[in-house]
Amino acid sequence: MTNMMRSSLLMGGLLGLGMVSLFAQGLQEWPERHLSTAEVEQHIRFLSADELGGRQPGHPGHAIAARYIATSFQAMGVQPLPGLQDYYQPIPMGRMVPPRAGHIRWGKQEWAQGGDLLSMSGEGIEGEFPAVFVGYGWIGDSTDDYAGLDLMGKVAIALQGLPEPMSPGKIIAAGRKKAAWAAERGALALIELYTLPYPWKRLMLNFTSPAPRVLPETEDTRLFHAWLNDPEEYLLRAFKEDTSVTLAVATETVRQNRFTAPNVVGVIPGRDSSLREEYVLLSAHYDHVGTGGDGPDTIYNGARDNAIGIAGLLAAARSLSEAPPRRSIILLACTAEEMGMLGSQWFVDHSPLPLSQLVYNLNYDGAGYNDRTAFTVLGYERTGIRPLIDRTAQWAHLNIIADPMPEQNLFDRSDNVSFAAAGLPCLSFSPGITEMDETILAHYHQPSDEADGLHFDYLRQLSSAFVHLARLIADQAARPFWQPDDPYYEAGRALYAD
Ligand SMILES: [Zn+2]
Repeated sequence: MTNMMRSSLLMGGLLGLGMVSLFAQGLQEWPERHLSTAEVEQHIRFLSADELGGRQPGHPGHAIAARYIATSFQAMGVQPLPGLQDYYQPIPMGRMVPPRAGHIRWGKQEWAQGGDLLSMSGEGIEGEFPAVFVGYGWIGDSTDDYAGLDLMGKVAIALQGLPEPMSPGKIIAAGRKKAAWAAERGALALIELYTLPYPWKRLMLNFTSPAPRVLPETEDTRLFHAWLNDPEEYLLRAFKEDTSVTLAVATETVRQNRFTAPNVVGVIPGRDSSLREEYVLLSAHYDHVGTGGDGPDTIYNGARDNAIGIAGLLAAARSLSEAPPRRSIILLACTAEEMGMLGSQWFVDHSPLPLSQLVYNLNYDGAGYNDRTAFTVLGYERTGIRPLIDRTAQWAHLNIIADPMPEQNLFDRSDNVSFAAAGLPCLSFSPGITEMDETILAHYHQPSDEADGLHFDYLRQLSSAFVHLARLIADQAARPFWQPDDPYYEAGRALYAD
């Protein structure tokens, strides 16, 4: 036996069982204490490099980022999750190609494509058609807005969304359902009257600029579906005054360029045989918004948003596979967060394991930082893990910024909200941010969000804290749960009800 063999056997023994108990006794520091700043910097510099072109789904840089994360998982000893394609959960998506022309006319009023008409999907139609107002066009437990209406060969006009406030992503998803219902009833088109609290002109820029919109594949109804901006409410008034409204319509077919983009997923089995079937889900999104604009720099590198978070996820991959906690860990690098949290929602809707086996979601996302003495948590008091957050801060020598800017409801603005809505208790972790000041806005969703100028030693400290908090949650005997007054409390009860 050579000395080298002897020492590697010794190491093997330590890594297998011995070290865990040394950690547990506090005689040995956890691996997340010894993260390498150079490695954290490597992840961030690679993912935010110009060559990755802003990591927009459907573009080569996005696929390269996914491959980087998957191969890093493999090198760090993270396993693929059974039921997926290796480390990938591919998601079918489409990039809308907006038509150049099209209009809807009623009397003297005209709404034209690119002006106050936005064609969303389906086949173009041409002719004079009777229109039917269908309210919200919704079918719920106790409502059917289509009851008693004849839509055959007609254009359905609906209010956008639902009476209760909804996120833009939900409104878009609701619109697709409405289009399917209208199609089933023989309608030729569904026109939704725009009501989002977002300036129509800016919305149009989003849909017509070179930056494409990404949509999940749906049951492909060929019904023509569009949004129409009618602030003067000409159409609504027309229906009030006259039930037989006829529209002159000439629209073009909306084409979709289809592609897939993956969530990247791995698992670290827990070390406690009685808790191993329970999973703590760690998530961070790896997509960003691609390229655009006409300045000298057109690449939105997304170093802060969210290469930093992926560096934290990879720190978890390394540290938690070296010394696994009691519960199992799922590592999820989400695609298409910037397009409305499509990747995390897809994971919820197509989970490779029962969602009730997940006990917590710890998400890492951010806009940047303006306080390097702290980490930020969104949801500090909401799931009963405040003592673990406090211990983590102490351990990492960082302060806590709890729920800054409450008026912005940041908790509901990253991937954790997909899991929260499914009932899973969660927390979003971010770099230290006190307010959306000039330091943050200078880089937030700007081409200047680059790796140069970042404080990598601080980012290593943040990664350590993120991993350590994950460890404490995964080791704690009790499962965290929503506070009784939380808006997601009932969803949580439903998720874990037998
Ligand atoms: Zn983000």
